[in-house]
Amino acid sequence: MPSQRHICKYRGNLCRSDREKRNMFRATTLWFSGLSGAGKSTIAHKVEERLFDIGAQVYTFDGDNVRTGLCEDLSFSAEDRKESIRRICEMTKLFMDAGTICLASFITPTHEIQQQLMNAYGPGDFHLIHVDCPIEGCEARDVKGYYKLAKEGVIPNYTGVSSPYEAPLAPALRLRTDRETVEECVDKVVGFLLDKTRLE
Ligand code: ADP
Repeated sequence: MPSQRHICKYRGNLCRSDREKRNMFRATTLWFSGLSGAGKSTIAHKVEERLFDIGAQVYTFDGDNVRTGLCEDLSFSAEDRKESIRRICEMTKLFMDAGTICLASFITPTHEIQQQLMNAYGPGDFHLIHVDCPIEGCEARDVKGYYKLAKEGVIPNYTGVSSPYEAPLAPALRLRTDRETVEECVDKVVGFLLDKTRLE
């Protein structure tokens, strides 16, 4: 790794609060954790649309999208999952500096990684949302057909099948997507988000 001793962060005249004031929303990161197929991306993208429609600067970061670019060199081993989350976390921090509300949709399977995130953000900058659906429900949905492949052993280290998922212990919100409709879940998240981010 190159030496970081001779790196000095450049500070421009425009700061995060200038951008937030112009955007009329405080920047923050909502992090959606849950099994594959639980509903993270469905909810995050609908929340994004609702926020976009009322003029907020908002962007959704999605698992498979970063896996084909920023994290394409990483595997699904425990170490590489941690590194993947570290990179995404750093990216959302840059977006927050640009005044953006970040919606991050990633499985985030272990308490260790969830804690890693909680430690990495400043106060008010991070809210963990548990998108909760029992494994049987996710398998029945099998949106991408990956549960079937994981059970056949074609996909290794698949969360919920051959790799653990530890439900967040104290999420800011827990959405039961096997009991609540998509609209109900989206309403809850939008309400939560407006409360945290809307500037007068
Ligand atoms: P994930 O991003 O967690 O892997 P997806 O959002 O890709 O999951 O897929 C979730 C699937 O479950 C979608 O087909 C969605 O229509 C369905 N679904 C059913 N009920 C809900 C709900 N309440 N919230 C979110 N998704 C739901």
